[in-house]
Amino acid sequence: MIPVKFDYLAPTSLEEALSALSEHGDDAKILAGGQSLLPVLRMRLNAPEVVIDLGGIDSLRGIRDDGDAIVIGAMTTHHVVRDHELVREHALLLSKAAAEVADSQIRHRGTFGGALAHADPAGDLGAPALALGAQFVIQGSGGTRTVEADDFFVDLFETAIGDDEILTEVRIPKHTGWGAHYEKFVRVAHQWPIVAVAATVKGSIDEARIGLTNMGSTPLRARATEAALAGASATEDGVRAAAEQAAEGTNPPTDLNGAADYRQHLARVLTGRAVLRAAGAA
Ligand SMILES: Cc1cc2nc3c(=O)[nH]c(=O)nc-3n(C[C@H](O)[C@H](O)[C@H](O)COP(=O)(O)OP(=O)(O)OC[C@H]3O[C@@H](n4cnc5c(N)ncnc54)[C@H](O)[C@@H]3O)c2cc1C
Repeated sequence: MIPVKFDYLAPTSLEEALSALSEHGDDAKILAGGQSLLPVLRMRLNAPEVVIDLGGIDSLRGIRDDGDAIVIGAMTTHHVVRDHELVREHALLLSKAAAEVADSQIRHRGTFGGALAHADPAGDLGAPALALGAQFVIQGSGGTRTVEADDFFVDLFETAIGDDEILTEVRIPKHTGWGAHYEKFVRVAHQWPIVAVAATVKGSIDEARIGLTNMGSTPLRARATEAALAGASATEDGVRAAAEQAAEGTNPPTDLNGAADYRQHLARVLTGRAVLRAAGAA
């Protein structure tokens, strides 16, 4: 289908984009890589009067070292996130998860900020961002604020970003030397996961941080498993026993790909695999 007609704006600075956003309010929509927005427009699930393309704002692209964190610009593509030296060194989990997003074509167009702002519970980047304790830098005409990962994902396709705000960058606290693995369970290659688990571990195992994809309306932490793994040794039996608690507090959907209880079973199995691989024990 062809989208409903809209005006297209291509600002070259963040200030210009924010002023267009506050001028057009609810009638405007931000365009990043377009890999989720364009299908939505083509299916006429949304019909903005104005589309504001962030593609011409260079300051929103790139990855930099900022002391105890790395900072990823919202318009940085999945492809760049996957391969960037700083990400591999300090946030390996993100590199591994970005490698699992869709296919190469989509990874070259889709952006880190776009995927997180879209907040699809089946999206691959929310759970690793949550597990790593990401901080989201959001700018509006009233100024800049930083939102912690625990408060960023509000509900299905809903985040803390206001209608007149833009996600500009994401700070990822450094997890240098931590092992990491993203275990994604799919029925069809290059698609969103039925369930996925993002695990990163320090040592073997001093501390574990685990995010769950598609186990509720937002990404979730497997906190009971994290607590059970703190100070545990990375043996197959020990990790699998801790992973038995991975589905606690989850509320996964039932759909054509699987029932809620099947997804909870998957979460337990995939958590065991992800942690063992992150710890280098499988
Ligand atoms: C065939 C196909 C398969 C896919 N498979 C996967 C997959 O396996 N795993 C996965 O995780 N994703 C998958 N995706 C989605 C892909 O990762 C997209 O890149 C991502 O969801 C959206 O990023 P984008 O840059 O394209 O954002 P857009 O589509 O441009 O925007 C998405 C939404 O976020 C808003 N937005 C974008 N940037 C900002 C910003 N900086 N501030 C505020 N709001 C903003 C837009 O207004 C829009 O509502 C797939 C997409 C397709 C088409």
